Amino acid sequence: MDFSLSDEQEATRVLFAGFAERELRPAAERLDREACFPAELFEKVGRLGFFGMRYDPPEGSGADLPAYLLAVEELARGSLAVAAACTMQSLMGTSFIHRFTTGEVRERVLAPALRGELIGTICMTEPDAGSDLSSMETAAVKRGGRWLLSGRKTWITSAPVADLFTVFARTGEEQLSVFLVEREAAGLTVGRAIEKMGVRASVTSEVSFEDTPATCMLGERGSGMEGLKGILVDIRLMTAALALGVARAAYEDSLAYSTERVQFGRPICKFQAVAAHLAEMRTHLAAARSLTHWSAWRVESGAGGADEAAMAKLFASEAGLNICDRAARVMASYGYASEYPIERYLRDVRFTLIGGGTSEILRGHIARGATR
Ligand SMILES: Cc1cc2nc3c(=O)[nH]c(=O)nc-3n(C[C@H](O)[C@H](O)[C@H](O)COP(=O)(O)OP(=O)(O)OC[C@H]3O[C@@H](n4cnc5c(N)ncnc54)[C@H](O)[C@@H]3O)c2cc1C
Repeated sequence: MDFSLSDEQEATRVLFAGFAERELRPAAERLDREACFPAELFEKVGRLGFFGMRYDPPEGSGADLPAYLLAVEELARGSLAVAAACTMQSLMGTSFIHRFTTGEVRERVLAPALRGELIGTICMTEPDAGSDLSSMETAAVKRGGRWLLSGRKTWITSAPVADLFTVFARTGEEQLSVFLVEREAAGLTVGRAIEKMGVRASVTSEVSFEDTPATCMLGERGSGMEGLKGILVDIRLMTAALALGVARAAYEDSLAYSTERVQFGRPICKFQAVAAHLAEMRTHLAAARSLTHWSAWRVESGAGGADEAAMAKLFASEAGLNICDRAARVMASYGYASEYPIERYLRDVRFTLIGGGTSEILRGHIARGATR
């Protein structure tokens, strides 16, 4: 196993690190306060080629998984909210469109979406169907040669500004299928935006459908869960990289603070209790990154996948929370003040414990993998 970066991977890391430092870190506090979709930054990320990284040429750049994860970590170090909106576009919001559209529809929507000019979503969660997607009630019926969708989705990232909706709906008793619905479709209503604790500039809302015509079915009838499984590993490792990015920001900020803040005549990093926090943070960060990139390496080499990605996502998100919490302790009252970013990191990082499967769900998955 070789953890050194290839020239392409390093170039990707440097590109996104520079962008995040210049454009995201200075804007992150304002974006959090205003809780508005960062349209301009989103388009700039599009111009860096981020949205098509995981898709083969000609539409995308065909970057490997480690390169994508490095880009995600750097974006998340700059702003987890922007990174969350952008990763939604680069995976879930465009993946089914990339894999399953053809002809006129593909020509009309895919390239603009990969440039960030059309905004995509994935609509799975419902008020009564969260972790248990099999209980979703949104249904699609075929009438007059068209699929019509009815139902209600919630927690849909980017929905308030979206053009494209990848919607999971029931097409039979035991059958989930996936549809593309466009913003102008009759009967589609984007509901109230959901006020959130963190990733506030990654806007979310409810979406409802009432006899709403789908543009097309994405994939075969009844293949929704199979289609989702096809990107689950990427989603989980991407979420691990999101956690790594925000945790790294928290570690770096609190480390710098601990060398400058003087109490009892010494920089606080010289106190054993503070140094212990720094040591734990550094170690957790290294462990989370190693597990994430080891998993990516297993996926790339065809040696593994689902279990490793679940372990990496579980560990990195829980480590991320732990690191952000320790950073707040090191900075004490300054870790509690809104004018410093630490309290935002702590609010933001909690998102990584939910998206891509909650920690509880992942522990169940990992344990089942061990006892199979
Ligand atoms: C910021 C944000 C953005 C999101 N964006 C999207 C999006 O774009 N599209 C979308 O479709 N969804 C989105 N979601 C929804 C997200 O996928 C769900 O919140 C997630 O699947 C969990 O569902 P739930 O919140 O309904 O919790 P529930 O499933 O109701 O879980 C509640 C609690 O029970 C536990 N639990 C449930 N089942 C089990 C079990 N079998 N074993 C052990 N514990 C269990 C959970 O771990 C949790 O602790 C988003 C959520 C957030 C917070």
